[in-house]
Amino acid sequence: MAKRDYYEVLGVPKGASDEEIKKAYRRLARQYHPDVNKDDPKAEEKFKEINEAHEVLSDPQKRAAYDRFGHAGTDPNFGGGTGGFGDFSFGGFDGFGDIFDMFFGGGGRQRRAGPKRGADLRYELRIEFEEAVFGKKTTIRIPRTEVCSTCHGNRAKPGTPIKTCPVCGGTGQVQSVQNTVFGRFSTVRPCDRCQGEGKIIETPCPTCAGRGRIRQEREIEVTIPAGIDNGHRLRLSGEGEAGERGGMPGDLYVHFSVKPHPLFKRNGNDLLLEQPISFAQAALGATIEVPTLEGTATLKIPEGTQPGTQFRLRGKGVPYLRGSGRGDELVRVRIEVPSKLTAAQREAIEQLAEAFGEEVAPEEKKFINKLKEAFGK
Ligand SMILES: [Zn+2]
Ligand SMILES: [Zn+2]
Repeated sequence: MAKRDYYEVLGVPKGASDEEIKKAYRRLARQYHPDVNKDDPKAEEKFKEINEAHEVLSDPQKRAAYDRFGHAGTDPNFGGGTGGFGDFSFGGFDGFGDIFDMFFGGGGRQRRAGPKRGADLRYELRIEFEEAVFGKKTTIRIPRTEVCSTCHGNRAKPGTPIKTCPVCGGTGQVQSVQNTVFGRFSTVRPCDRCQGEGKIIETPCPTCAGRGRIRQEREIEVTIPAGIDNGHRLRLSGEGEAGERGGMPGDLYVHFSVKPHPLFKRNGNDLLLEQPISFAQAALGATIEVPTLEGTATLKIPEGTQPGTQFRLRGKGVPYLRGSGRGDELVRVRIEVPSKLTAAQREAIEQLAEAFGEEVAPEEKKFINKLKEAFGK
C-alpha cells in the first residue's frame, strides 16, 4: 500500500506551523489510541501512521527533507551517496530474496530515485619545475555540470507550479503485485510518470530545459602547494559534477605532472645538479659559483677533489609538503676535459705530463714516425 501524505494523515495544510502539527497530533493520537479503540482493529494501524507522520513533521530537518523529496526524503539511507534503497516487501514471503532474484533476473532491489551524488572530475595540470618546488596560485578552466542557477535545480520555470505527481501521489514510487506459484509478490519501483521524483513540472525552466542542471565551463582557482611532485594529486572538495535531486556535488581531483628542468633533477625533496669543473680546479681546489633554483650559491671545492664527488648545499632543495624545512641541493662534480687547446695550453699540459712522468700523445707520434721510417714509408 502506498504511503499517505504525512500532512494528509494529520489533517493539516502543507505550511502548518509546529503548533498546529502538535495540536493535530495530540487530538488524533487520543482519538485513535489502541487502548480506547479495542474494538476497532484498524485503529492501531492508524495510530502508527499518525505517530510516523508526527515524528517526521515535528523534526525540522526531517520535515524539510520530506517537503523536498517526499517519503524518499525520510528513508534512513537518504543522502548516503549510494542513493538509498527502496522499500521492498514480499507480501508475506519475507526473506525469499533468492527466489525473487531467480524470477526477476537478479538485482531485485529497486533503487529509489533519491538524491544522487555528482561524479568526481579529474584534471591533468602540467606545471613548471619551479612551480612544483615553490608552489603557485593558478586558475584552471573545467567544463562541468552545475545546478541550474535559474531554477536552483527544481526544473520548473520560476513562478510556475510544481504539482504532486497524480500517479504516485508524490511518493515517487508505485507498487505492483505479481502472482507467482510461490504466492503474491508485491514490488515497488520508481514512478514512470515523474521519474521517481514525485513531482510534475508544468513549465520547464528555459535555462536548463527542465533538467535542473546545466553544463558550463568554470574557472577554478588552484593553490599548488610548494613541494608537489609528479603524480601527486589535489582534491578540491565539492568542485566536481553537480549532484542530482539535491545530492552532494562530486570532488575535483587535480593530478600534477611536472615539466623537466634543464639543469636540475629531483629526488624527493633533494635537487640533483651535475657541475663540471676543470682538472686544475679539482687538483688545486677552488671556490666556484653553482646554480640554485633561486640564483647561485658559493661552493668550495677542496684540493684533490675526485670526479663524482658529491657536495651538499643544505636547505637549497625542495620544501617539504607537510611540515617545514627544505631538502638539500646535491652537487656532483664532473671533471671536464677541454676538447680544444691553444698552443700555450698544450705546452703547459705537456709540461705537467712530463712532471708526472707520463707518456702523452707527442711521444706516441714520435714512436709512430719511427715505425714509418723503419718500413720505408
Ligand atoms: Zn533551470
Ligand atoms: Zn509519480
